[in-house]
Amino acid sequence: MTLSVRHRIVIWYTLWLVLLIVLVFIGIFSGSSYLVERRTKAGVVSAVNEAVDEIEYTEGWLDFDNVDFRRGGVYITLYDNDGFRIAGFAPDEVPYTAFSDGILRTLTSGRNSWYIYDSQLSFSDEDSIWVRGIIGSYDMRAVVSSMQGVLLIVLPLLVLMAALGGYVIVKRSFRPIDKIIKTAEEIAGGNDLKKRIGLSDGSSELYKAASAFDRMLDRIEATFEKEKQFTSDASHELRTPIAVILAASDYALSHTDDSSMKETLSVISDQAGRMSSLVSELLYIARADKGTLHLEKENVDVSELIEIVAETMEDKAALRNISIHTGNSEAIIVKADRDMLMRILINLISNSITYGKDGGNIWVSADKGHGNAVIKVRDDGIGIAPEHIERIWDRFYQEDHSRSGGGGSGLGLSIVKEIVSLHGGKVSVESIKGEGSTFYAEIPDGTASD
Ligand code: ADP
Repeated sequence: MTLSVRHRIVIWYTLWLVLLIVLVFIGIFSGSSYLVERRTKAGVVSAVNEAVDEIEYTEGWLDFDNVDFRRGGVYITLYDNDGFRIAGFAPDEVPYTAFSDGILRTLTSGRNSWYIYDSQLSFSDEDSIWVRGIIGSYDMRAVVSSMQGVLLIVLPLLVLMAALGGYVIVKRSFRPIDKIIKTAEEIAGGNDLKKRIGLSDGSSELYKAASAFDRMLDRIEATFEKEKQFTSDASHELRTPIAVILAASDYALSHTDDSSMKETLSVISDQAGRMSSLVSELLYIARADKGTLHLEKENVDVSELIEIVAETMEDKAALRNISIHTGNSEAIIVKADRDMLMRILINLISNSITYGKDGGNIWVSADKGHGNAVIKVRDDGIGIAPEHIERIWDRFYQEDHSRSGGGGSGLGLSIVKEIVSLHGGKVSVESIKGEGSTFYAEIPDGTASD
């Protein structure tokens, strides 16, 4: 499974965030415990030293009235040389321990521990007292466990909020990319070059990319439009000279008795005829591309249309001894452009004649399906090789130019496809090489919508 970029970004920074928070907590904890310990230790030493300064000894009298026995949380106790307490008090749970002048020690009993600092105050060779300071060492374990509790609740919340917030921001930042992908897919799927990403002006790189993409589409569309216009203009311009050549060669043909001249003129006439139909097919396609091919829908009886077209094509089929069979007794009415449906039938039947076998058959029928009519043209001709079947609907595509006797243009099926999609339907083909082909043109029944 590959994760999307936005998920990868969110997971990546969330993991770093967790690591960072944990490191910060550890840093704060160890730094503060070090500071607390240092202050506690310094506190007990300074409390003892201050107490020592406040004690006065005059002529055998000990004066400790000014001593603060609970200074800053430090318990101050005075002992005589034999270890008897003179003044002050120590917490009961602190076990007694021998004196040790000027050394800060840690005393642990059970779960508690204390810092103890002693200072000996000598008044004469035999006369001296001990000043002891005791403070409970700050229990960092309690802090650790309370911090752990906080960490366990706060961390998941923080991570969740950061991940969600981050996801929203990343998603928003990726919106232009989503639009770019959507537009590109729409263009690829629907062939509509008019589509644009159309993001409002933003300053991020993605907005700039989107607007560059739009500008590129403008140029591509303009080039396409020019190309369509060129095909349309060129076809228009060619029509007149071709018509003149055709008329002139036919005229000359009917006014000469010279047989070699007749042969040459009929070649000219045939080729001019081919050019004429090629140019009108090109014009048709150019109009379809420009969107100027308009449907004039009416109620058409497809069964009747099949009969009419089949009849007009019988002569052409007879040249190859091919029989055309039609078998629809029922009327199948669809709302469609009659001339266009006729063109579909002519193109499909004429292909079946061209690619049929001498003495073969063509079956033309129509079926009424769910909300559509399916025109079906089947032949027992040469068929189409599987590697070509996908491409036969492409413009100018011919499986083998010589198969049509050099007469085909490769535009017939693309016109069929164009007309069918103009009606909102679709085309398909089944074929077995050497056995024959069946072409389907599905025309939605426009009666419901119009
Ligand atoms: P063409 O002018 O070459 O007939 P089309 O667009 O009508 O152009 O057809 C494209 C190609 O599809 C043809 O060149 C041919 O190879 C193949 N084709 C079309 N109809 C048939 C059919 N009935 N049987 C076999 N091949 C066909």
